[in-house]
Order: sequence, then structure tokens, then C-alpha cells
Amino acid sequence: MVDKLSRYSYSALDCYNSCPQKFKFEYVDKIKKESRQNAPALMGNIVHTALDKLYKLGADGIVMPIADLKSFYKDEWDSVGAENILVDSDFHTIDDYIRIGEEILIKYYEQHKPFNQSILLGTEQNLYFTLPGTDFQCKCRVDRMSKRDDGTIEIVDYKTGVRLAKVSDSSYYYQMGLYQLAIMENYPDFTDIEVIQYFLRHEEAVTKKFSAEELDSLVVEFKDAILETIHAQQTGSFQPQESGLCRFCEFYDICPAKIHGKLLEQEDEATGEIPAMNLKDIANSYIVKNSQMKVLKDEVDALKEELKTAAK
Ligand code: SF4
Repeated sequence: MVDKLSRYSYSALDCYNSCPQKFKFEYVDKIKKESRQNAPALMGNIVHTALDKLYKLGADGIVMPIADLKSFYKDEWDSVGAENILVDSDFHTIDDYIRIGEEILIKYYEQHKPFNQSILLGTEQNLYFTLPGTDFQCKCRVDRMSKRDDGTIEIVDYKTGVRLAKVSDSSYYYQMGLYQLAIMENYPDFTDIEVIQYFLRHEEAVTKKFSAEELDSLVVEFKDAILETIHAQQTGSFQPQESGLCRFCEFYDICPAKIHGKLLEQEDEATGEIPAMNLKDIANSYIVKNSQMKVLKDEVDALKEELKTAAK
């Protein structure tokens, strides 16, 4: 039986590309991550929610007063609660992220009100499609889709991060290429499509219209990338790829590549042998149980197939 994800997103493929082991934890084993929300990601989510509200009201000819926007933004943070927020920076506090998010939101508000310059076609929209020429199911979530007066369909993805991307960056090219494919597969009548990553901190829109040739090449690359993940699932080979990003990885504490370092740290701090042995045992037990679970799942799948055949 072929192992594959039910749907592939840009995030999943990017995750595999940056670290196959992390992809396994997140998308194959579906291990529950840290329950607290990472502050920069939370700031991004809340800003997205506020923009969603502004555009939905704008489509109805209503401009949300800025005082209401500020109070909506504050309420969103309050509803999460500081105890549920994780700050990974040595220098930033939660209040810094709250302030940064509010500043970029207000700047955007001043520049873009009344939020109805184009016809709103959708916000925060999930799009599902089959990668052309394959049976791989893909998905993406579009922040905003609008139609300009000249008929151009604009597909906007908002970014709250510090780094301004270029079209040639893989983070731009593959994500937005997949978005354009998703729109074309879902709305075949849309012929003039422009994809935009809008960098809120910089007030910069990085735009592109992918050509048919570029999209054809992207389909081949996505197909190869998906096949690589399937091969890893079939062989059970997910190599940890250590990098500066490990520091922010939700699976750091259970990552096989980090266990040795953790043990050494613990030995330094330990007053005896027991804590280090415990961590090692837990890590080994996790790896063994996880492999056993995979074997059992394969056996259950095989039995299901046998039952189906016998019932025919
Ligand atoms: S800690 Fe680093 S190597 Fe381990 S899964 Fe996370 S990103 Fe990969």
C-alpha cells in the first residue's frame, strides 16, 4: 500500500525540504505540538483575522472605526492569555509583539481604507485541487482574493515577518506558484491572475504572474517533491536536518538528533545518573513504539484490504 498524505500543502513540502525528521513528526506521526502559541505566529494570525474583518466589512461599504479595530485587536490577544503564549526571543516580550502587530495594522488601515478598491471574492479561503497530471491532492489557504476593475484577479498573501522576500526566493516562488495553480484549477474562467505577497512591515507588495511554462515546470517539481516524501514514508527514512531553525523547532525535545546533546546537558546538571537515564529511556521508547505503531498500521491496512476482497 502506498503511503501518502491525504493532501499536500506548500507548508508540508517546505517542512520536508528543511528537515525530513520534522516533516515526519508533524505530518506523518501527527504529534501534538507545544500547546502554547508562538508569539510571532500568533501576532501574524491576529493581524490576519483583523484584515479579514476589515475587508469583509469593506465589501459591504462599511469602514470599521480605528478605535474599534484597536479594541478588536486587543481582545484577540486577551482571549489567548499570556500563559498560553510562548516567546522564543531573548530580547522580545509579548508586549513587543502586541505593539508591532498593532503598528503594522494601523499603517495598513491608513493606507488601504475603505478596503473596497476591488471586488472581494473571498478571504481566508481553503482551496483544494488535484495536481495536474497526477492523483495527488493539494491544498492552500488564500488570505484574500479580489477582482480589480480591469478584470485581473489578485491573490494576496499577507506576511508579518521581518524579511522582505524576492520573487526568485523559493519561499515566494513555490508558495505563490502553488496558489496560482490552485486558483486556475478551481476557477478555470479566471485567465488573468496576479499573485501578491504583501509585506506588512515594509508596506511592500511583491507581485508575479506565472507563465504557463513556469507553471508546467512547477507541477513537475511539486510532483517530484511529493514522490520524495512518499519514498521516505515507504522506507521509513526521515533524516534530521540540523540548522539554526532547530532552536525554534517544536519537536526539539524528542528529536533523535538532539537527544545526545540533551543527555550531555543533563549530565552536567544532574546530581546522579537517574535523570539522564530517564530521558534516554523515554526517547528510545518513543522511537521503538513509533516503529511498532507503523508496522501495526500496515498490518491493519493489509487486513482491511483482505476483508474488502473477501466481501466482494
Ligand atoms: S530539532 Fe532540528 S533536526 Fe530535529 S526535527 Fe527539529 S528541525 Fe529537524
